[in-house]
Amino acid sequence: MTDIIIIGAGIAGMTSAIYARRASKSVLVLEAKSYGGQIINTPDVENYPAAPHISGFDLATNVYGQAKALGAEFKFEKAVNIEDHGGYKTVATTKNSYDAKAVIIATGSENRKLGLENEDRLVGRGVSYCATCDGAFFRGKTVAVAGGGNTALEDALYLSDVAGKVYLIHRRDAFRGDDGTVERLKKKENVVFVLNSNVTKLIADKKLTSIEVTDKEGVVTPIEVDGLFVAVGRIPENQNFTSVIDLDAAGYALSGEDCRTRTKGVFVAGDTRQKDVRQLVTAASDGAVAATEAIKYINGLE
Ligand code: NAP
Repeated sequence: MTDIIIIGAGIAGMTSAIYARRASKSVLVLEAKSYGGQIINTPDVENYPAAPHISGFDLATNVYGQAKALGAEFKFEKAVNIEDHGGYKTVATTKNSYDAKAVIIATGSENRKLGLENEDRLVGRGVSYCATCDGAFFRGKTVAVAGGGNTALEDALYLSDVAGKVYLIHRRDAFRGDDGTVERLKKKENVVFVLNSNVTKLIADKKLTSIEVTDKEGVVTPIEVDGLFVAVGRIPENQNFTSVIDLDAAGYALSGEDCRTRTKGVFVAGDTRQKDVRQLVTAASDGAVAATEAIKYINGLE
């Protein structure tokens, strides 16, 4: 019986591992892909205290090394279910099952896709989900951004300083993101707003060469682009755990700021949790809070 199983080796989960090990709890971290989570794709992190410039990969590798050095065990298996037995929980992966006194879910979120034919094949060949990661490949070129939230608006603003021309394509005529950013975009001469429209087709040879957009009236317009940045939101990855946690309408796990869920001994941390600010530093903060609460729970001090 492990003391704490942590599902997800992003910054939230690995911070939980550090805190739990420092309290001498045994820790098993289960990760479906590779350690690091979302930050691994960011070339330069500028807003993490004490690290004015660090790549997401280096930062994640440092945290992974720190957790391992403290004695956390990592297994690269996808967790698919949590069963609550009261005093202990069983976490099933696609390969095994493990028992623990407490579980911290820190599974983060994944990019929502447009669901278009060839979208997956063209990732890295013109289609991207991360403007700050890939924008530099499109210096002076023509790109499109799909979406109307803050991510899409900020991506378009960032790309307007890098690319030659930026089409911002949104399915409605009002943006979900901040008015201030919309106003800044309106002042950019190389940004073209394409509203009430969806990207409906990706046209490519080896790389993306153009897209088709379809407006509300069904009129289809081809647009030549070198790159398409998809920024239509993220999907929290916790649908497998609804036997022990409640989700809001967008799929984020409900908890208090203490990271506790409706099931005693099950905690949530990081981007997968319903909250206002999803940043590296708040993921780390959640990791510390969730581990501290899990330690209290195991020690019978809740
Ligand atoms: P979001 O706010 O959920 O916006 C997603 C956008 O994509 C919406 O405009 C939505 O359109 C559109 N969309 C969703 N599915 C679509 C589809 N299948 N086809 C076409 N368009 C689709 O997501 P986000 O921009 O990633 O932001 C996530 C959270 O992080 C938000 O709370 C945001 O404010 C926050 N954030 C904050 C900052 C900041 O404060 N600096 C920066 C980035 C993100 P509709 O509007 O029509 O639904």
